[in-house]
Amino acid sequence: MNHLTTKLQTGLYFVATPIGSARDITLRALDVLASADVIAAEDTRSMRRLLEIHGVALGERPLIAYHDHSGAGARDKLMAHLAAGRSVAYASEAGTPLIADPGYDLSRAASEAGHLVTSAPGPSAVATALTLAGLPTDAFFFAGFLPNARKARVSALEALRDVPGTLVFYESPRRVAAMLGDAAQALGAGRAAAMCRELTKKFEEVRRGSLGELAGALDGQTVKGEVVVLIDRARGDGASEADIEAALRQALDSMSVRDASETVAKAFGGHKRKIYQMALALKTEN
Ligand code: SAM
Repeated sequence: MNHLTTKLQTGLYFVATPIGSARDITLRALDVLASADVIAAEDTRSMRRLLEIHGVALGERPLIAYHDHSGAGARDKLMAHLAAGRSVAYASEAGTPLIADPGYDLSRAASEAGHLVTSAPGPSAVATALTLAGLPTDAFFFAGFLPNARKARVSALEALRDVPGTLVFYESPRRVAAMLGDAAQALGAGRAAAMCRELTKKFEEVRRGSLGELAGALDGQTVKGEVVVLIDRARGDGASEADIEAALRQALDSMSVRDASETVAKAFGGHKRKIYQMALALKTEN
C-alpha cells in the first residue's frame, strides 16, 4: 500500500483519475482519496473500482454521486459537509474533473462559500493527445465536443478557422469520420491533423495526416474507442511570408491595394486582413 492517510484541511479536492491505464494515478491523488472525509464521484462504480485496485479502503466514509446536473440537492449535500468542516474529494469518471466533465458548478459554489478549493492534478486526454500528435503546442485551443448536428458543427468549425494555435477536440468514435470531413470542408483539406485513439490503453493509436487524408482514410470505417482530434492552425496553404510578399509586389504593379490583396489572399488562402496590411505597407514603401 503506497498511500498516506493524513488529516486534510477542510475543503474541496478535485482529484484527477486515469484515462485508461489504471496505474496512471498520482501518489498524492491516492493520499487524498485515502484521507478525505467524504468522497464524491461522477460515477460511484468506477470510483469503487479505482479504490479497490489501489487498496484504498472506503470504510465508513460516504461515497456520494455528483455531477453538475444532479441538481441543487446533491450539491447542497456536499456543501453541508464542507460547512461542517469536512474535506471532500471529487473525481469525474476519468481524467481531470471540469475538463469536458462535471465539477464547474460545485467549484463555484465552494469558492463562493469561502472554502478551500484545490486539486490533485493528473491525467487528461487533451494534454496526452497534445504530447503525441506531432503538432505545435506553443499555443492551443481546447474546443471540447462539437455540436452533433452537422450544420451547427460546420459553423462551430468555421468560427475556429483563424485561431492562432492547435485546435483540440473530443469526439465520439461514431462521429469522428463525419467530423473530419466537415473540418476538411470548413478549414481546408490541406491542414495537418491527428487522430489520437485509446490513449494509454492497449490499442493506443496516433494517425497523422492532412484533414483530407484522414477523412478519406476513415470514410466508411468503424472507429472504436475514445478519440481526440487535433488540427493545426491555418498556414496560408504553406506559403511563406516571402512568397506572399513577392506575389503582392507583382500584383501591385497593375492593381489597387484592395484588388491585389484580395487576389493574393484568394490564391494563397491566407489571412485577408494581414495580407491587406502587407499590401498597404508595400504600396507606401514605393
Ligand atoms: N475529463 C476527461 C479528461 O480530462 O480528459 C475527459 C472526459 S470527456 C467526458 C471524455 C472524452 O475524452 C472522450 O470522449 C474522448 O474524446 C476523450 N478521452 C478520454 N479518455 C481518452 C483516451 N484514453 N483516449 C482518447 N481520448 C480520450
